[in-house]
Amino acid sequence: MTDIPPQIFLDNASTTRLRKEALDAMMPYLTESYGNPSSSHKMAKGPREAVKEARKKIADCLNASSSEIFFTSGGTESDNWALKSGAVSNPGKGRHVIVSAIEHHAIIESAKWMERNGFDVTFLPVDEFGLVDLKTLESAIREDTALVSVMTANNEIGTIEPIKEIGALCKEKGILFHTDAVQAFGHIHLDVKEMNIDMLSASGHKFGGPKGVGFLYVRKGIKLEPFMHGGAQENGERAGTTNVPGIVGMGVAAELSVAEIDEDTEYIQKLRDHCIQRISSEIEGAKLNGHPTQRLPGNVNFSFSGIGAMACGIPMLMNGNGMCVSTGSACAASSTEPSHVIMAIGVPKEMGNSTIRVTISRENTVEEIDRAVDVIKESVARLRAL
Ligand SMILES: *Cc1c(COP(=O)(O)O)cnc(C)c1O
Repeated sequence: MTDIPPQIFLDNASTTRLRKEALDAMMPYLTESYGNPSSSHKMAKGPREAVKEARKKIADCLNASSSEIFFTSGGTESDNWALKSGAVSNPGKGRHVIVSAIEHHAIIESAKWMERNGFDVTFLPVDEFGLVDLKTLESAIREDTALVSVMTANNEIGTIEPIKEIGALCKEKGILFHTDAVQAFGHIHLDVKEMNIDMLSASGHKFGGPKGVGFLYVRKGIKLEPFMHGGAQENGERAGTTNVPGIVGMGVAAELSVAEIDEDTEYIQKLRDHCIQRISSEIEGAKLNGHPTQRLPGNVNFSFSGIGAMACGIPMLMNGNGMCVSTGSACAASSTEPSHVIMAIGVPKEMGNSTIRVTISRENTVEEIDRAVDVIKESVARLRAL
C-alpha cells in the first residue's frame, strides 16, 4: 500500500467503514469455525447456527420472517435477481416492467437487458426533486404490467420515495413491487408489511457491514425463479457456498444500525443541515439537488453554476485537499455528461456537470463538514475565475 495523507471521508453512500462489532463477530468464521454450513458433520453446526441467527436479526429489522430473507453477494445481485426473476414470476401478467428513471445502474442496466430480451420497460420520469408521482405511475400501469421497481431512497440525491403508497397501488393492481433499499436500510425505518413491499434489496457494506454480501427480502408466497443455479443453499433459491463471515458481519451491522437509527439520524441530520445551510448561504449559484426534507439524513448534493467546462475541476481540487466526495457526472478525459439522475431532475447540463455529493456518517464531525465547505467554496471560486 502506498502512503496517503489522512483523508476526510465524506462518501458514505459509496461505502461505509466495517463496524468493529461486525469484524469481531466475523473473526471466528474466518479462522477456527471454517466449516461449510451445508455439510453434515460437526464442523457445520457452528456456522449453520450463526447464519440462522443473522437471518433472524435481519428479518427482525424489516418486520419479516427468516424464511423471507435470501443472502446474496450484494445490492447488485439482489437487484438483478428481483427484476429479472420477479418479472417472470407473476403469472397471468405480461412482460411489461416499470422502473423509475433514477434507479441505480444495477436496476437500469438490468432493465435495459430485459428490453433487449423481449420485455417492455417504462422508465418512469420523476419531478424536479426526484420524486415518483403516484398519478404518473398509475397512468403508466398497463394490463400486462408484471412488476414495478422504485428505490426507497436515491443514492445520488438522497430523495426518499413514497414507497408505502407505491406499494399500496401495486398491491391493488396485482403487480409485484420491488424496492432497492440499499441506501435506506440501516438509515431509515423500514417495515415491509406496513410499506406493502414484495421484494427488497439491501447491501452489507452500505450500513457498516462487509463488502460482497447482501440480501433480498421476498415476501412469503412469491416464488422467484432462482438466479444462481447450482446447490441447494438458501432453500434452493440461491446456489453457492454460504458466505458465513460476510453474513454474520452483515447481521451484526444490521441489528446495530437499525437500533441506532433515531440517535444517528439526529446527529447526522444536524451535520447535513449545517452543510446545506452554509453552502446555500455562502456560495452564490448553488442549487440543492433532491428534496429539501424528504431526503436521507446524511445526503448533501449541490450543482454549481458558472463553472462550465471546468466542472471536473471540483472533484479534482477536493481530492487534492484530502476530501473524499463524489461527483454527479462521469468525468472522462475529454467530455463530461451529468449522471442520469441529475439529468432526470432537469438540472441544465452545464450546471449538472459541476455536481458534488457529500454523504455523512456517524463518524464525521462538524469540523470535517466545515473544512469540506471551505474547500468547496475555494474550488468553486477558483474555477469560476478561470
Ligand atoms: C451501492 C448500491 C447498489 C449496489 O450495491 P453493491 O452491494 O455495491 O452491489 C445498488 N443500489 C443502490 C441504491 C446502491 O447505493
